[in-house]
Amino acid sequence: MPEKSLLSEKSLSQILEDPEKLQHRFTCTMADDGYNLLLGKENSHEVSARLRSVSGKGAGAFLQAIPTSNELALKPGKFRLAACLRLGLHLPFQGMQDKCDCGTHLDSFGYHLMTCKHGGGPVWAHDSIVSSCSECLKKLAVLHKKEPKHRYLNNEGRPDILICHTGILSDQEMDISLAHPWSKEVVKNCAKLSGFAAKKREKMKNAKYDEILPGGSAPKCIPVVFEHFGTWGVSTERLLNTLSLKSKDKEGKNNSADFKTYWRRCFSVTLQKLNARVMMKN
Ligand SMILES: [Zn+2]
Repeated sequence: MPEKSLLSEKSLSQILEDPEKLQHRFTCTMADDGYNLLLGKENSHEVSARLRSVSGKGAGAFLQAIPTSNELALKPGKFRLAACLRLGLHLPFQGMQDKCDCGTHLDSFGYHLMTCKHGGGPVWAHDSIVSSCSECLKKLAVLHKKEPKHRYLNNEGRPDILICHTGILSDQEMDISLAHPWSKEVVKNCAKLSGFAAKKREKMKNAKYDEILPGGSAPKCIPVVFEHFGTWGVSTERLLNTLSLKSKDKEGKNNSADFKTYWRRCFSVTLQKLNARVMMKN
């Protein structure tokens, strides 16, 4: 029996029409075809949602990170766990406890550990992302405060980060969160639309700050959302673009492209590390 071609005849003839960047276009088309083939199967909502989220904007940036610093490096044990989550493989929990601190039996895909506040994973992961955002701002010498008090009309809660007067994003605040595409209120839509969990969370945050910021000023709050599988929210991507305009190299020339590439990879590696560490805490 003849072997099935990795590319459709139509794709193949289209690629061969132009000799420029042939290898790049071959591999991209093969990856796209493989992705569409996987999505076209009769998957559960969870599988389709995971496939879309691991393939979304920014989700695979860690794969291109060269481990030249601690921020960009992922040790083998953590890489294996992060890869299991990404690929939807059963996690190697053998010999470890099988219940969360809340008493719930753990699922073998890590969903409970990533989302149960009793287990501490979401809180701890959130705080780690806040620290990474703060480091990003420090690199640009953007003055900011973490969790300043007395910011809201109801005087409760604190923004994660308040950007002070700097000429860029002045007096804006950042609300940082992680959204899981498997959460029951979004999983069906996440199976159909890439980035839906992040989008829904952004919308929720904007509505929240309409109420609690003086004068109903939602634009003053930037919802910084990442999906657990790695996709960036639209506002997060936009924020990185805005910040990158401020970035300069040692000679004072704008280097926004390098800045964006570095931080896209850095946040992506951080997310993989966080996911792995939340599993290892088990
Ligand atoms: Zn729990």
